[in-house]
Amino acid sequence: MKSTEIRQRFLNFFKERNHAIIPSASLIPKDDPSVLFTTAGMQPLVPFLLGGKHPEGERIVNVQKCVRTQDIEEVGDNTHDTFFEMLGNWSFGDYFKEDAIRWSYEFLTSKEEGLGLDPERLYITCFQGNEGVPRDEESATIWRSLGVPEHRIYFLGAKDNWWSPGPDGPCGPDTEMFYDVTKEGLGDLDMQEFKEADGRQQVVEIWNDVFMEYEKQKGEVVGKLDQQNVDTGAGLERIAMVMQNVDSIFATDLFFPIMIKIDELREETDEKAERIVADHIRTASFIIAAGVQPDNTGRGYVLRRLLRRAVQNADALGFSEGDLVELVSTVVSIYKEPYPEVGEAETLIVGTVEEEEESFRDTLARGREEFKKINGDISGKQAFDLYQTHGLPLEITIQLAEERGVAVDVPAFEAELEQHKELSRETGSGQFKGGLADSQEETVKLHTATHLLNQALRDVLGEHVSQEGSNITTERLRFDFNHDEALTDEEIAEVERLVNEKISAGLEVRCTEQPVEEAKEAGAIYLSQADYPNKVTVYEIAHPEEHERGGVIYSKEICMGPHVENTRDLGTFKILKEESSSAGVRRIKATLN
Ligand code: ATP
Ligand code: MG
Repeated sequence: MKSTEIRQRFLNFFKERNHAIIPSASLIPKDDPSVLFTTAGMQPLVPFLLGGKHPEGERIVNVQKCVRTQDIEEVGDNTHDTFFEMLGNWSFGDYFKEDAIRWSYEFLTSKEEGLGLDPERLYITCFQGNEGVPRDEESATIWRSLGVPEHRIYFLGAKDNWWSPGPDGPCGPDTEMFYDVTKEGLGDLDMQEFKEADGRQQVVEIWNDVFMEYEKQKGEVVGKLDQQNVDTGAGLERIAMVMQNVDSIFATDLFFPIMIKIDELREETDEKAERIVADHIRTASFIIAAGVQPDNTGRGYVLRRLLRRAVQNADALGFSEGDLVELVSTVVSIYKEPYPEVGEAETLIVGTVEEEEESFRDTLARGREEFKKINGDISGKQAFDLYQTHGLPLEITIQLAEERGVAVDVPAFEAELEQHKELSRETGSGQFKGGLADSQEETVKLHTATHLLNQALRDVLGEHVSQEGSNITTERLRFDFNHDEALTDEEIAEVERLVNEKISAGLEVRCTEQPVEEAKEAGAIYLSQADYPNKVTVYEIAHPEEHERGGVIYSKEICMGPHVENTRDLGTFKILKEESSSAGVRRIKATLN
């Protein structure tokens, strides 16, 4: 079944059930300055979930364009792209779990009106409950009544089956549908096997029904909402993947023509690079069609980053200079019908891609010249200078260094970067030449959150936890630490809760200069492998009163900063992933909303 038909069938199915079809909202959120792009179907509809009257009524169905830059590192696997379409049906205080689940099931399995998928390949997750909210037996009972066997329904914690946009507002449990995409079929799976199959992308999450009936204030569920809402989201690319019987979204009709074109242009084979190029050029096309141009901050910076990563990966594939833009007409041919704005913007998209590639190549060429002037291994300071003054991305420096067989001191580069951010903050310039004013603010917040996380992990898992690595992008923090086993859902929830508790407590961040030995003796966290100067900066996070009377300090770390002044500025902390990094080392990725 072609993706066009999937869209059409979805809209019709719900139209038949009295839903009004509404068009996709823009990728650029209208009244929400807190996010750069629309990341889910619910976003433009929040006012109606809160009780506002939708002009089209209480039942809505749509296909929403979404961009999730936070998934950028996932691109290359079988199921994530940075742009995707979300199919959604909505109840604003009208029907609830019974109808929503039944219709999801019918749409997925009915041959006549829906997709005709095999019920034997369907797995379901429901919310297991916590202190404030009971286990979602109701949803499970409805699934069973439809014929889903008891052992194919798994109860999971808040990390997987609870939806909430932030510390305040509507929220609730969700139930998710997974589909077995293996050739042979996996059959019955216990919970552990199911989780492993999910990790290997043998079962793929295709649809999520959220039942919004609770309200949160300051991170705590305070009661039920006046109205019960349904918010569902099914990824078109993933549905197309299961309908077309292919093993990745890149082999569906939404990507295939782009992959063929890439195949014609490339000299080298590198599946991941091919997928990144296809994904990024497609997302960039939609962002440009929404009226964004490359820039050094905000949305324009996201676009710049996508295009530059596309150029880098196209180079890795052996594309000739200027070949990348050839893909635009293919993207346009796929999308000009469902999204005429993409067709109308074709000339603009072509021009923008060409110009950005050219300016990036100028930057690279100048950076390469500078690189040639350096002899031997590349120090952190030299790598930073290439980046800062000559705009050469660290990845390129590493690549050039590899070609020449020399090393780059990456930790020292990162230290330089941190220090520079601190300096530029002190001098109030607020910008560094790389031009990342907005993103700088984000990384500072994530840096403070990293300190809170470090301490929270010690509180929950024990004092043996120490930092093995840390990396911050504008979208997320990544923290590696030594611990022998995977964290349980409960431990993850507790760490998350602790960090959010410290955030909402409005702790103040203060820093002092101390002799290094004194700081270590006083219990400051430090990196055992680091070579500290005699005098170091120590960042302490505590309640203002505790600071004043020299009382309880929550987190104390030797660090170069910079940090926010008050944890209140951080927003909501969320753990996105907990996984193994290497033997005895766990890795957490987390973000702030
Ligand atoms: P995952 O855990 O696989 O990243 P998610 O929990 O982030 O998925 P939701 O936020 O529940 O997904 O979004 C609803 C639906 O949108 C998913 O069931 C999936 O079909 C689709 N979806 C989410 N993220 C992506 C993505 N990056 N690329 C393609 N489809 C996506
Ligand atoms: Mg996700």
